[in-house]
Amino acid sequence: MSGIILGRYLTIAGGAHLLIHSLFKKFLIKQGIGIDPPAWESIHRDIKLSIYSTLIFAFSAAFSIFQFDRGYTLLYSDIDRYGWWYLGFSFVGVLVLQDTYFYFMHRLFHHPLLFRWFHLGHHLSRQPTPWTSFAFDPAEAIFQALFLVAIVFTIPLHFATVIALIMTMTIWSVFNHLGFPLFPSSGYFRWCGRWAVGPLHHSLHHHKYTKHYGLYFTFWDKLLGTEDPNYYPVDLPDKSLQSTKDVMLSSIDN
Ligand SMILES: [Zn+2]
Ligand SMILES: [Zn+2]
Repeated sequence: MSGIILGRYLTIAGGAHLLIHSLFKKFLIKQGIGIDPPAWESIHRDIKLSIYSTLIFAFSAAFSIFQFDRGYTLLYSDIDRYGWWYLGFSFVGVLVLQDTYFYFMHRLFHHPLLFRWFHLGHHLSRQPTPWTSFAFDPAEAIFQALFLVAIVFTIPLHFATVIALIMTMTIWSVFNHLGFPLFPSSGYFRWCGRWAVGPLHHSLHHHKYTKHYGLYFTFWDKLLGTEDPNYYPVDLPDKSLQSTKDVMLSSIDN
């Protein structure tokens, strides 16, 4: 399990790093997005924390599979048991549940009494990179993995749904930690940017700790007043902004 989980992280985070800093580097610069490669120390620190997260998630996965073998989980393999519609319904339902769990846990971990032990490791990268996507203090990783263990005991989930959820979790997290906005904030993407967490939304959290606690969706941030009111005015790509840092600072200063 550790090999699979670490391999998944290294492939997707490493792949995103290669795309940004070699294959698409010139294209991104043309779009007005100049990003310096992260310092090796910050990559090293993120990978080290991700290895701890790997071990915790692998233990949780092994525990869940062991309990499945004993017949204690609600995991199932026959699609006809709940029908095809339930695959999509359970997938979206778990994303909404996980987003809610994460939002409140994340806000709690920002409490001054807890931050140092539960969440400081993730915020050591002030400018997030794909490597930061799985870099959590062990205490935080335990609470994140607990959610996944809890759902297999309480919600009937097909194995394909679980795999789809884990892939979505991984890819969305790497996407949120790209460190620069990928889409222009106009048209369809503007609508997506209102309701879904993306790289700009989450990068602002790494700069401004009191805003943007959501994982996938922005409705909790909107509802509970933790969305930065200046989040939307930044139109991207904007060639007048020379670097990601400028983009972030312009958004913060507005
Ligand atoms: Zn945070
Ligand atoms: Zn982050």
